[in-house]
Amino acid sequence: MTSDKKIIVAIDGYSSSGKSTMARELARRVGYVYVDSGAMYRAVTLYAMRHDLASPQSGVNVEGLVRVLPDIHISFAPAGADGVQHTLLNGEDVESEIRDMQVSNLVSPVSVIPEVRHRLTLLQQGFGEEKGIVMDGRDIGTTVFPDAELKIFVCASAEERARRRMRELQAKGEEVSFEEVLHNVVERDRIDSTREVSPLRKADDAIELDNGTMTPAQQMEWLLNEFNKATANG
Ligand code: C5P
Repeated sequence: MTSDKKIIVAIDGYSSSGKSTMARELARRVGYVYVDSGAMYRAVTLYAMRHDLASPQSGVNVEGLVRVLPDIHISFAPAGADGVQHTLLNGEDVESEIRDMQVSNLVSPVSVIPEVRHRLTLLQQGFGEEKGIVMDGRDIGTTVFPDAELKIFVCASAEERARRRMRELQAKGEEVSFEEVLHNVVERDRIDSTREVSPLRKADDAIELDNGTMTPAQQMEWLLNEFNKATANG
């Protein structure tokens, strides 16, 4: 049973920990808006790549990217037949492209840039103004919504997370080795946790979930239970 009180649910955690799947499903079940904040960082990264401001060879042109930030507009199209909300970059559907390995390899260096974080944080806070939102990311419970009524921090071993990511990429037909995916997961965790502005860390009042050995159904039961407790309080 869900109450009428609308809350903000912040789900943070390591790369490929299954947070997006959990967050999206929770939002669907309780009739909340779902926002994938990682998709926003990925869209900025894709824009930078397309404008020769980020590449595997030369890294990220920070000054150049900061200069064009006002030209980058990110929004979401409501979920279609596939049940997945699509990310729009200046009106173009880039949902598939932002999940590519190339974007995954450059997104963490882009995400350390304070101006990028500032811009996306403001946009994310705007989405949550009326509450009734589930947002997943790295700094949602610490920086974007420090007063969120329910904060979850998801973790699982790097190998388990790489296996999951590998399955997603294979389903899309992308040819990648397990080593490459594992390296990307570990490297993103490292950059995300050590950056200066809003690093990935568990908020003091977040509830930790190690979902390494849980089925999706068990995770959802656990999450719905926490959600019901949080909406019943106050
Ligand atoms: O969630 P996802 O793995 O798609 O996020 C991609 C990257 O975006 C992360 O590795 C991190 O560098 C960045 N990110 C962030 N803050 C967020 C969400 C994502 O820095 N709130």
